Amino acid sequence: MVNMKNNLFRSLAAIFLFFALAAPAYAGTSFRFGGWTLSLPAISVPTTYDLYKTFMSLMSSGVQMKAMPYALIQKLDPYYANNLNIVRYGHASRLSNTAITDCTKIYFSSKDMTDAIAKNTPLTASSMRWLLHELAHTEQCYKVGGREAYAKMWFKDLGTALVTPPFSSNDMKEIHDKMPMEKDAEAKAVQVRTQLGI
Ligand SMILES: [Zn+2]
Repeated sequence: MVNMKNNLFRSLAAIFLFFALAAPAYAGTSFRFGGWTLSLPAISVPTTYDLYKTFMSLMSSGVQMKAMPYALIQKLDPYYANNLNIVRYGHASRLSNTAITDCTKIYFSSKDMTDAIAKNTPLTASSMRWLLHELAHTEQCYKVGGREAYAKMWFKDLGTALVTPPFSSNDMKEIHDKMPMEKDAEAKAVQVRTQLGI
C-alpha cells in the first residue's frame, strides 16, 4: 500500500513537473515519428513570474503600506546597498506568523511589529532581527536587478531547497530556511545587528 501510494505520488509529480517545466518548451512544436507527425497544441502555461505576481496581489490586496520612520531609515540605511527611503511595509492580515518581502515591499503578519515600526519604539532583539532580515531581501532585490529577477531567484532557490537534504518533513518553514537567499538574508541580519551593537 505504501509503495502504491509512493508510485502514484511519483507519477503525479512527474506529470506535474513535465507540465511545469517541459510542456511550455514543446508547446506548438511538431515531432515526426516515421511517417507520422505529432503536433502539440500551443498552450498557455503561466510563467513562474505570473504565479508570483498573482500570489502577491492576492496576499497584499487592501494592505496599507507605509515608509519607515525617518529616524529608523537613517539608522539602518548605511548598512544596506539599496535606498531604504523607497521601502514600504504593512500589516498583511492574510499572513500568519510570517513575513514576505516583494522587492521593495515588506508584508508582516504581526500588527505588533508594524505598530512598533510606525511608532519607532525600540524593537525587541527578535523583532529587530526580523526587520533586518526582511530588509536584506529588499537589498537582494536591488542587487539582482528588480522584481522580476528577484521572483525568478526565489523560484530557483525554492527548487534548490526542495532537492537539499534532509527530506524529513514537508514543513514549509524547513523548505524556506534551506533556500540560499534565506540563508544570506539571515546572515546579513546577524551581521547588521552585530554592527549596530544590539
Ligand atoms: Zn526571508
